[in-house]
Amino acid sequence: MRSWDLIVVGGGLAGAAVTFELCCRHGLKVALLERGNLASGASGRNGGQVIQLDGRDRDSQAMLKRLRYSKRTVALLKEYRDVLETDFEFRQVGSLDVAASEKECAELQELCALQREAGDTEVEFLDHRQLHEVSPYLDDSFPGARYRSTDGNIYPFGWSPACST
Ligand SMILES: Cc1cc2nc3c(=O)[nH]c(=O)nc-3n(C[C@H](O)[C@H](O)[C@H](O)COP(=O)(O)OP(=O)(O)OC[C@H]3O[C@@H](n4cnc5c(N)ncnc54)[C@H](O)[C@@H]3O)c2cc1C
Repeated sequence: MRSWDLIVVGGGLAGAAVTFELCCRHGLKVALLERGNLASGASGRNGGQVIQLDGRDRDSQAMLKRLRYSKRTVALLKEYRDVLETDFEFRQVGSLDVAASEKECAELQELCALQREAGDTEVEFLDHRQLHEVSPYLDDSFPGARYRSTDGNIYPFGWSPACST
């Protein structure tokens, strides 16, 4: 007869991370129950993108609130990258929100200024030249982009096994 302090149901991103926290940081005996395979739900079907602030909302308070939360997530990903034995391939390669027209480009430039004014020190507006330096293979017709160098991606199938083994 085996006994557990807690049972976590579901081996997706959330269940695996909760299991890791409870076992490794709180020293509890945890069973992780998964009806299929680890990451067989949404966690194995996503693009693995780590985007801290998407959308083009102009409400600076709401933006900062979301950003504070997502920055905490990135800090956790970095921490997990250091402590977990299995590499889940977290790479901070940056993300681009590309403008498709001059009008959109002007809007993005204004939005970046607004974000920076609100305290988002990482966001950058890239003009046409800077955009093609960052992403040389991008179609030359895009006039500019919003850029965050600390965004990136993980290997989604890697996360759940990394946290739960
Ligand atoms: C197409 C797509 C693209 C996405 N792209 C991104 C992205 O790029 N970046 C991003 O951050 N997010 C993205 N997401 C969102 C992200 O994938 C989800 O928010 C995340 O995977 C949710 O994780 P979860 O652990 O809550 O759920 P899930 O991964 O769905 O895990 C739930 C698990 O519970 C199991 N389960 C359910 N019921 C039971 C039961 N009764 N007994 C045992 N096991 C059970 C399921 O089998 C499943 O494995 C995307 C989602 C989709 C669908």
